[in-house]
Amino acid sequence: MSEVTRTVVVRSLPLPRKVFRVLVELEGMYRNMVEQLVLYAVRNELTSFTRLKALKYRELRSLYPQLPSHYAYTACQDASTRAKSFSRLKKEGLAKRDYPEVRKVSIWLDDHLWRVRSLTSIEMATHRGWIAVELEPHKQFWKYVNGCWELASEAKVKLNKKSRRAIIFLTFKKSFEVYKPRGFITVDVNENHVAVLVDGKVYLFETGFRDVVLGYYYRRKRVQERYDKLYGVNCRVGRKILRKLKERKEKSDLKWKLANIIVRVAKERQYAVVLERFGKNPGKEMVDHVNDKQLRHRIYQASFKGVQKAVEEKAMEYGAPVIHVNPRSTSKTCPMHNAKIIYSNGSRVGKCSKCGEPWHRDVVACYNLLLRARLGNGSTAPSLGGLKGGLNLDGSPVPLGSTAAHDPTTVTRALWARWKSLGATNKHELMRMSI
Ligand SMILES: [Zn+2]
Repeated sequence: MSEVTRTVVVRSLPLPRKVFRVLVELEGMYRNMVEQLVLYAVRNELTSFTRLKALKYRELRSLYPQLPSHYAYTACQDASTRAKSFSRLKKEGLAKRDYPEVRKVSIWLDDHLWRVRSLTSIEMATHRGWIAVELEPHKQFWKYVNGCWELASEAKVKLNKKSRRAIIFLTFKKSFEVYKPRGFITVDVNENHVAVLVDGKVYLFETGFRDVVLGYYYRRKRVQERYDKLYGVNCRVGRKILRKLKERKEKSDLKWKLANIIVRVAKERQYAVVLERFGKNPGKEMVDHVNDKQLRHRIYQASFKGVQKAVEEKAMEYGAPVIHVNPRSTSKTCPMHNAKIIYSNGSRVGKCSKCGEPWHRDVVACYNLLLRARLGNGSTAPSLGGLKGGLNLDGSPVPLGSTAAHDPTTVTRALWARWKSLGATNKHELMRMSI
């Protein structure tokens, strides 16, 4: 069994002025608490929620006796999460200042602070008692409410002062049974491609995530420079235009689409999905040709982590088991001879130093991931979870097809963006990779 959680964002109807004022007051107090806590936590190098709560709970209660007591808990949770991510950024040298800034606030609610009133309304505990908030349900909301999803006890609320609405972040949970895998589908993620090995064939899906990130980065930079010159740094017109550049959406739509294709293929064949196990900070090596730290981080997040996470989530939803294997030098060894593959000056195609066979980098990586998932030995032991008994780990050789050119089938973004599964392959014409 595994559990998947999804966040669904739903707006309230425009709230009566009186009600909205109470929420604004509540938000103000909550913000103050979080600001104080974050400052305290960072100053004292505290990131544990329990420690923070133990040290500050009484003080918060006496500061805001009119607030329901559980806001002191959730503010501590909120603050410790912020302190944690700040200290992580700081370690990586990505933090811009010495102390984290509490800019955007959403009020964290636990089971004592809100409850469901009807299918389309909730109630929130405030310093003025319980307040009813009518929701404006949408298609996705109904999908979760009517499906077999369970509403989690925690929620978050943001306020939109312009429209006098509350924005509510609801969490839905669902448990899944994981099937016993009959084989493997391996996924090798890199900056602009995702290579997938299914039944002896490697498909190279173009994602272009690096280019998306870089493209937006340069466009933003150009806009920023132009408006900074015209109207001063961080002016309103400039900010408005920057908001319109919708990088995030473009990346995430594609990411989910691709994850869907991969996991559907796995599900159809009852295969386990094999992914690389990312270390603590692999982004640095993988994107080491980019000098800008922030940019490197973003490319890594978008291209590697984003795709991995999407595949993992989809896998859970479909009940497909996921196996993580050691990614170390997967593209450097010939999977047939265990010999080094030599790549000359930045080429993606190398030669096995023993047999002289040409290998495409991403194909090698996929086969080595498969090999490691199958062998699951020693240093490369995969995390099989409770599935070990069900897997046939006989260590049989990698089912390499012909020993002809090991080149992948490239699938352009325009093509796979319309796919639902790999089953569509035969109907469309594929471009062969020209080496
Ligand atoms: Zn070889």
